[in-house]
Amino acid sequence: MGQWQPLQVKTHKRVELVDITALIQEMVKSSGIGDGVCFLYVPHTTAGITINESADPSVVRDIIAQLNKLVPYEDNYSHAEGNSDAHIKASLVGSSTFVPIAGGMLLLGTWQGIFFCEFDGPRTRKVLVKIKAD
Ligand code: ZN
Repeated sequence: MGQWQPLQVKTHKRVELVDITALIQEMVKSSGIGDGVCFLYVPHTTAGITINESADPSVVRDIIAQLNKLVPYEDNYSHAEGNSDAHIKASLVGSSTFVPIAGGMLLLGTWQGIFFCEFDGPRTRKVLVKIKAD
């Protein structure tokens, strides 16, 4: 897998946003890279990744509540597996993101955190991480 390092994420609910910021920062630290980019990729079709507010947990609660309203669990979907809502939610948040690195730290805004987005849990999932020097 080259320089892609897998990060295992265990989820506990069907729909859940897991703050993985501290784990990613730890990977950046152990890479020893001062300035560069941290690429994050989720190789799943019913999970994704997003960056949003981590200071106030009610923001994540609102995101989940509104995604569930926009894309209900049951809505006459064609996909026979019964998890179409999870596929649609995964496409809405996307499956990759990146964060700049400066001085060995993720260059996130004051209120930003990196969230693994579970839409068909609970499961053991994977985020692929590549930390590249400038
Ligand atoms: Zn499916």
